[in-house]
Amino acid sequence: MFDKISAPSITIKQAIDIIKSNTKKGSTQLNHLFDSQTSRELINDEELYYKSGSNFYSLKRKSIINNLSNKEAVSIYKGKFNDNCRDLMLKSEEFQSCPVCDGPYYPLTLDHVLPKSEFTQFALTPINIVPLCWNCNKRKGEYVGLDYERSSFNPYFEDFSSLSGITIDVEFLDSYPRFKPKILYSKEVEPKLKNLLHIYGMDSFLEGKAAKKIKNIIKKYSDLRKISSSRKLKKFLEKRKKLEEKNIWKTLFQHLIDKTDEFSECINRNNTIV
Ligand SMILES: [Zn+2]
Repeated sequence: MFDKISAPSITIKQAIDIIKSNTKKGSTQLNHLFDSQTSRELINDEELYYKSGSNFYSLKRKSIINNLSNKEAVSIYKGKFNDNCRDLMLKSEEFQSCPVCDGPYYPLTLDHVLPKSEFTQFALTPINIVPLCWNCNKRKGEYVGLDYERSSFNPYFEDFSSLSGITIDVEFLDSYPRFKPKILYSKEVEPKLKNLLHIYGMDSFLEGKAAKKIKNIIKKYSDLRKISSSRKLKKFLEKRKKLEEKNIWKTLFQHLIDKTDEFSECINRNNTIV
């Protein structure tokens, strides 16, 4: 989750050259892109992007680059860029899973870290275009952020994969769903990571994942011992003199941490249930 990936294999100059070599008859918008002044400006802006690194959020919005309008740049991205450069952007073997959620790419999309609707100069710039799964792309939307701590994620520059300082606490309830995992942030958690989890919806994603895991392990355990209801579970725990807690689900959970390797394994890794 929030993994760093290798920089794209092509630059804006190469992207323009590839589009040019695959264009027989240039339209007005393509001629605006191929204009030497436009190319020069796009190359300069790309250099600024590389220099900014994880401060990419501070780059200024531009609505037009020389004579290339935003509408034209976006249209070239959706057409010629997608047709000719998309595969080159994705040829790395690294792109097997989404750098934000670690999930499989279904479907694989390309996301503009700085939205193409506002940053014309980066609508076709590979360093601003990252492979994300459809869900993460959708959750992030047009988000930019005002400062470093509140900015979005560019996996070409940044790495928050240690998820350092994040744990999941489990609250036990008497009513259904009986337990509620809740993400906890210790003081050592970087504010930017905390914000990223929120922007991309990874906080509720982790809580959901933990809930699913707990549910599966409890189900497996209960099936094995033929515990089909809360009443039977209570009896089962009473028999084993395990019922020190009022909440039977909390008791079972604690019992399982001691007894189930699978459970302790997933709790011990980074001290999180993931
Ligand atoms: Zn994802």
